[in-house]
Amino acid sequence: MAIPQDLPGAAVAYAAAGIRVFRVRPDKAPFANCSRCRPPAEQRPNPFYIPHRPEGCRCTARTCHGFHAATTDVDLVRRWWAEQPDANIGAPCALNGWAVLDIDPRHGGDQSLAVLEQRVGVLPGTVMQITGGDGLHIVYRTPGVSLPGTLGPGLDVKHNGYILLAPSVHGSGGRYRWSGPGRFVQPEAAWPAVLTPQRRAA
Ligand SMILES: [Zn+2]
Ligand SMILES: [Zn+2]
Repeated sequence: MAIPQDLPGAAVAYAAAGIRVFRVRPDKAPFANCSRCRPPAEQRPNPFYIPHRPEGCRCTARTCHGFHAATTDVDLVRRWWAEQPDANIGAPCALNGWAVLDIDPRHGGDQSLAVLEQRVGVLPGTVMQITGGDGLHIVYRTPGVSLPGTLGPGLDVKHNGYILLAPSVHGSGGRYRWSGPGRFVQPEAAWPAVLTPQRRAA
């Protein structure tokens, strides 16, 4: 699918395509939870707080708990970005069916990928996104099991976490974009089995 170049339009396009998104501030500071979901700080007792886990939240504010608020509700997404038109577009990985290799060349990620591919062979081609910081996201379908958080320096696995989607703006000022003609397609390639931790024989 073609991705609109404005953040509000793109966010709506992703949601309409069934991709769960949530707002991320340009400085990555989280949007405030509602009072029922805001744990009491020491200086600021909060009598409304109801202890609960983010994934079990039943509150109706639907901005709380970072990526746990991610939604495909187009009307809600439209309201979120009307409120904050420069919000970046976050997408939780596993919840969207993705497992993502995150290569950060500033921390040696390209070197780590080369070392990894020497060991396990060249990784299957799939959907890729160029991050605004000259990094790379290699997007596979999730294997549905837990994955290690990192495979080497500058080579992280985004699975339980989230990634930003094009045209989000990186801290360095560059914009995220999908590789090739810049269109987004759902990944068809499965997460490489060689990168899935094997269960040890008892
Ligand atoms: Zn809440
Ligand atoms: Zn909550």
